[in-house]
Formats: sequence, structure tokens, C-alpha cells
Amino acid sequence: MYGSENKSLSKFLSKNLTELKSNGLYNKIDSLQSSNGPIIKINDKNLINLSSNNYLGLATDDRLKKAEIDATNKYGTGAGAVRTINGTLEVHDILESTIAKFKGTESAIAFQSGFNCNMGAISAVMDKNDAILSDELNHASIIDGCRLCGSKVIRYKHSDMNDLKEKAKLAKESNQYNKIMVITDGVFSMDGDIAKLPEIVEIAQEFDLITYVDDAHGSGVTGNGAGTCKHFGLSDKIDFQIGTLSKAIGVVGGYVAGSKDLIDWLKVRGRPFLFSTSLTPGSAAACTKSINILMKNDYLVNKVWENGNYLKEGLKSLGFNIGKSETPITPCIIGDETKTQLFSKRLLEEGVYAKSIVFPTVPKGSGRVRNMPTASHTKEMLDGALAIYEKVGKELEII
Ligand code: PMP
Repeated sequence: MYGSENKSLSKFLSKNLTELKSNGLYNKIDSLQSSNGPIIKINDKNLINLSSNNYLGLATDDRLKKAEIDATNKYGTGAGAVRTINGTLEVHDILESTIAKFKGTESAIAFQSGFNCNMGAISAVMDKNDAILSDELNHASIIDGCRLCGSKVIRYKHSDMNDLKEKAKLAKESNQYNKIMVITDGVFSMDGDIAKLPEIVEIAQEFDLITYVDDAHGSGVTGNGAGTCKHFGLSDKIDFQIGTLSKAIGVVGGYVAGSKDLIDWLKVRGRPFLFSTSLTPGSAAACTKSINILMKNDYLVNKVWENGNYLKEGLKSLGFNIGKSETPITPCIIGDETKTQLFSKRLLEEGVYAKSIVFPTVPKGSGRVRNMPTASHTKEMLDGALAIYEKVGKELEII
């Protein structure tokens, strides 16, 4: 047996693993034998892929690959240190100024992932004397970032502006907090709906709230690619514009775009920036290339919307419940958890990879299969997927 044979650890692991497995909640991880493109290969079988965040197909773009290889040849595979010692290479500075241009802000800072960006950015500014108003459907990295900073977290009902306003008023009038922040995803990844930023900004102005938008799923998609703040013409009204470099941008990393003072502060207090080795030079260069492609040409952004609308219309006319999606992310809401998992399994057997998402990721009774069409899907692939959806939907009496 491997390990120290510590009894409390082995008891903890075996009890919890057995419980998860017997409840069908232990997630089996699939291993791809291909890139994460519109067609993926798993267990030697080609599948139409509707589960990737590679929204624009840039993860396999030759221009990005070349930028990554060139930078790797010049600077090596690793940055060699954290940013604040001597792990800041010129490719990092260029990436940050490119992000600021892309987002229309004074400045930007790059982190190693979107997840640790939220962990670092929230805790650099907020502490136990503050409060955070957080949408109940915010991403796990926001939830963890809020926990880490020790502020009072006040959850408001998903996109319910009356609830947010009421809670902001109570928090402000309590005079208990030094600072109050409102945090929301820009695009919610489980439903594909867009945060109501105009109302959020109005409430923030009325109650003096710091505004924080995590646009991991909006960047590269909404606002002609520049994201949800730009979509609403509110870029200059949002204090923290967060993004990931791992979805539409097609590489890896995360960032905050904002004022010069905010970014200067994060460069001395954003703990992952200070204590974890920088993005690889190749990743930084590939991200810059990707953003430059996006800023020059809106072909890919238009294509992901065209494909998203095509799939959405197709699913709707087959009779699926696609919820309140406003973006290419399109759920098929099934409800019952077991049926949702069976639906996803049957889709896979027929040739479509679309993951089921059930409680606790989404509320009980709202199990769904989530579809993420990308700019790289062809009409033939989408038609192929729709035909399989129709077959399996009828077989399981979902439609
Ligand atoms: N924020 C949101 C809203 C996300 O959906 C994700 C990724 N699932 C992240 C942050 C984390 O980004 P990354 O994958 O770059 O760590």
C-alpha cells in the first residue's frame, strides 16, 4: 500500500470515494486523443464536440502555434521566477499592454489562470471589514476568492436586481463596512445568460459599490469580442474587468483590466502574481497573438454567433427547453438528474460529446446538457449533432 498509512486520511478517502461512486457522482475523466476542436477523438472514436470553451477555435490556430514556438525558442519553456523577482519577460509586458488595449482600460495585469486571478484580485483589495454582494450563480473561483479575503459575503438571487438593490441598501445603511463590492459573472456559463450590467452599474453608483465583472465566457464572444462591459458600453464604469486567456483566447492564463492605480496595487498585493511562477513565455506570446487577431478581424466572433444561433434555433424547433440563453452557450434543460445523465450517455454513444451538468453545479431538478458551439464547427457538423439530438430526444421522450 502506498502512503504513510495514516488512518484518518485513509478512512476519509475510502468513505467519501465510496459514497460518491455509489451515488453516481464520481466524475469519470475522459482523455482526448486529439486537440479540443469541433471533432474530438476519445477511445478511438470521433465525436462531434459540443463541450469545449475553445469558442473561436484559436487553440489550434497556426498563427498562435508559431508565436508560441518562436517565443519558446527565444526565451525558453519556463519564465524561471515569479513576476516580481525576475520572471517578468518582455512578452509579459507586451501581453499586458495588449490586454489593456483590447479591454479599453488604462492598464492590465496577467495571472497564470482565471482561477488564481480571482483568488488574488479579490483578496488584494477586500478584507474582513468589507462586504461583497455576489450573484448566487457566480463561478467557483469567485466564491473561493470571496472566502479567502474574509469579507462578509451577501449572496443575491441570480440576476435579481430588486434583491441586489435591497441588499446593497441594507449593507450601505448598516455603516458596518469600509468597502462594499458587487461581483458578477459577465456571461453565466450554465445558462448562457448575460449579467444585467446597466442596472448593476446604476445600483453601484447609488450605493457606492466597487464593481467586479468576471467575463471569462464573454471575452472573445460578446461586445464584438471585447466582452460584456463593452457590449453595454460600460467599460469605463467597471472597476475590475476579469478575463481568462484559456477559453476564446485559446491558450491559458487570466487577467484583470482596470485603472493604472488598481493594476499597480495588484502588482504588489495580488498574491499569485507575487508567489507563483509567471505564465510561460510561449503562452504569453500566443495570447498576445490571439488578442491581436481578434482586434483586427471580427470574422471568428461573427462565426461563433452564427453557429450558436443556428444550433439554438435547431434545438428549439426540435422542442428542447433551451432556457434563457442569450449567447452561443445553449443548455438543453432536462430536469431530472438521472435522465440528464442518460441523455448525455446516449448522445455520446451516437457520436455527440455534450456533458451533463447536474446538482450541485446547477440547482436540483434543473439537470441539463450544455452545448458550446464554436466558430470552427461546420453546418454539416451542427446538422449531424441536431439529427442525433432528435433521435435520442425522442427515444428518451424528452421531446
Ligand atoms: N471564471 C469563470 C466565470 C469561469 O467560468 C472560469 C473557468 N471555468 C474561470 C473563472 C477560471 O478560468 P481558468 O480556466 O482560466 O482558470
